[in-house]
Amino acid sequence: MANFCNLKEERITEVTLPNLMDKGSPHLTIGLWGFLDFDGKELQILRPPYVNVSKGAIKGKVRLYDLSSYHPGTWTLEAVVQGADNLVTWDKLTVYVRARKEDWSGDSSQWSQEKKLSSLDPLFRPAVSAVLAALRDQGFQPKIFFGWRSVAVQHQLFLQGRTKVQFSFHNAQRPDGTPNAYAADIVDSRWGWTDAAQQNGFWDALGAEARERGLVWGGDWTSFRDVAHIQSRQNSELAATKRESGL
Ligand SMILES: [Zn+2]
Repeated sequence: MANFCNLKEERITEVTLPNLMDKGSPHLTIGLWGFLDFDGKELQILRPPYVNVSKGAIKGKVRLYDLSSYHPGTWTLEAVVQGADNLVTWDKLTVYVRARKEDWSGDSSQWSQEKKLSSLDPLFRPAVSAVLAALRDQGFQPKIFFGWRSVAVQHQLFLQGRTKVQFSFHNAQRPDGTPNAYAADIVDSRWGWTDAAQQNGFWDALGAEARERGLVWGGDWTSFRDVAHIQSRQNSELAATKRESGL
């Protein structure tokens, strides 16, 4: 068995298998289990734990297998080869994983929930997941409207009067430009920002769940109430966050 990756940010797209497993077999069966997702919770196995893969493209001494439907996380891998003589051989693999380069362009409000989550700071992310889960338990249908967004989008929102700042915790990034937001806007998918959200107690529930996890809720602000907004940093840290982002 070999621990072969610890991907916090990006989806696994391929596993590189050394050719040492090759015993003339056209197929390889790989098992993936015992892994953690980025929230530290054990994931469901998305497919049966054993997957048959046919010979992939041979690149030098390795073959590549597409595993793009699996969650990112820490994975353990074992493999078994069925040889031509029908002999089944278990073996260990030294496996290297390369992550797909995520495309962070485009309208980030249209990204999948998973991608929006992955655009958040890794320490903020589990707190947001927990808030979403707690709201679902109460019968709400929460979704992230904005996780990270670009400064260009921020500027548009500023011009529309929907935000008071030209740089917000939504815009935070790592110095290489990878999104690393400390803020998320969360709405109930049935109500958005309409009065129904207030009438059904969604904002209050969001605020309570956020506070319980040490987050800042925009609904507590008096000068500009921002009821869908939660963040993991204090407003006093905004200038430092902007500097850290290289912006
Ligand atoms: Zn916000």
